[in-house]
Amino acid sequence: MESSQTFSSIPDIVIVGGGAGGLELATKLGNKLGKKGRARITLIDSTRTHIWKPLLHQVASGASDPADHALEYLAQASWHGFQFRLGTMDGLDRVAKKIHLAPVYNESGEMIIPEREFPYDTLVLSVGSVGNDFGIPGVKEHCLFLDTKAQAVGFQKKLLETLIRVNTQQRKVEAGQLDVAIVGGGATGVELAAQLHQVTRQLTQYGLDVVNPDSDIRISVIDAGARVLPMLPEHISAQVTRELAKLGIDVISQAKVTKVSPAGIEINNDKVIPAAISVWAAGIKAPEFLSTLGLEVNRINQIKVKKNLLSESDDNIFAVGDCAAFPVDENGMSVPPRAQAAHQQASFVARAICRRLRGNPEIGEYVYRDFGSLITLGRYSTVGSLMSDLTGSVKVTGFFARLVYLSLYKMHQFALHGLVRTGLLTLTQLLRRTVDPSIKLH
Ligand SMILES: Cc1cc2nc3c(=O)[nH]c(=O)nc-3n(C[C@H](O)[C@H](O)[C@H](O)COP(=O)(O)OP(=O)(O)OC[C@H]3O[C@@H](n4cnc5c(N)ncnc54)[C@H](O)[C@@H]3O)c2cc1C
Repeated sequence: MESSQTFSSIPDIVIVGGGAGGLELATKLGNKLGKKGRARITLIDSTRTHIWKPLLHQVASGASDPADHALEYLAQASWHGFQFRLGTMDGLDRVAKKIHLAPVYNESGEMIIPEREFPYDTLVLSVGSVGNDFGIPGVKEHCLFLDTKAQAVGFQKKLLETLIRVNTQQRKVEAGQLDVAIVGGGATGVELAAQLHQVTRQLTQYGLDVVNPDSDIRISVIDAGARVLPMLPEHISAQVTRELAKLGIDVISQAKVTKVSPAGIEINNDKVIPAAISVWAAGIKAPEFLSTLGLEVNRINQIKVKKNLLSESDDNIFAVGDCAAFPVDENGMSVPPRAQAAHQQASFVARAICRRLRGNPEIGEYVYRDFGSLITLGRYSTVGSLMSDLTGSVKVTGFFARLVYLSLYKMHQFALHGLVRTGLLTLTQLLRRTVDPSIKLH
């Protein structure tokens, strides 16, 4: 078996998962330690490019082209003093302090990299999360998920092809032929619904005009709870529900999904909501393989961590982001799976690793700071609540809310590229908007 074993004495810090948390961490540690030869930083990811996950619903609707936002891991690694290795972690030997990567195959099924092992002194697991189907029959087979760039691009193609097919068919548009049902009334489901409403109107302006979006496309958001956006105050959830209703988007609450079939979503063992496209955005779980590593995990495979983000089972293994179960209260609630938490935890672990390398085992405790949540309904509106130490939760809307919403992505870009490049990237994206169509048409 090929091994990445090298023979220098500097510490090996291996980060698995280059998402919102892992890539920021690799970049920080590469700049601080890797460039100075004080540690070898290795980032491993199962894909070759990074895209910030909260952009995926925009990619799925066609409102954003992934090529405009994708970052090449190899280039980022060479600019910031770390090494990148392509591969999917599937095993861990805690005694030998090595991780195992599965062989890598190309699209034609040929093996391009055999299985490998990587030694570590410190391991950081930041492998994110995937949609949780809760074992409901038909979800895996008939729903689209939005966990990866490939899935979001697959969704965008399916939507476009469905519209093109209907637009060129000889017969009239049939009822239900273009219906989209989204399961999950959290931020992802609600934002996707509004974004789809917007792009289906834009597509008709680009010539797909046989379809009348107002009468031919029905978008539904289905949720088991009493209201959408349960993480936001009730008045904000009510406002968003009213705005969705104004757009003609159906919000179906207290609807427990019992089955999914090619015909649509069955709710409460009773009614079927017809859907040509069904989307699953109803909760997350950490990747399955985490429960096989011999580390303590919770019921959704998240690694149980101590207050300093070290695994409860191993003081050489940190976990950050969606795959970490960091307790926030006595009732067993964990930090919510959000980009802002992954960002904060990456910063904490970067400092903790630097301290440990300086021989200081006192790394302190991570404190989760909830800055609030914002929901953007496409170009129609942005609304949410911001948390302040002085006033508690403050409702924000309109242009200011939109600016704060956009700033979260800018903070991620700033952590990866610094001020000047983030400014240049923003300018490039603004300029491209003046020459590109407002939605992806291929
Ligand atoms: C559509 C959508 C919209 C969202 N919107 C928001 C929002 O508006 N605000 C917000 O705060 N949060 C939002 N989130 C949640 C946010 O994206 C996540 O909380 C955040 O990305 C978690 O960061 P992470 O680093 O833990 O994992 P991720 O960013 O998911 O990265 C995980 C990485 O690990 C890699 N990986 C996985 N398994 C392996 C393996 N076995 N071996 C090697 N590599 C592996 C993956 O390829 C990926 O690059 C949204 C999520 C989605 C899906």
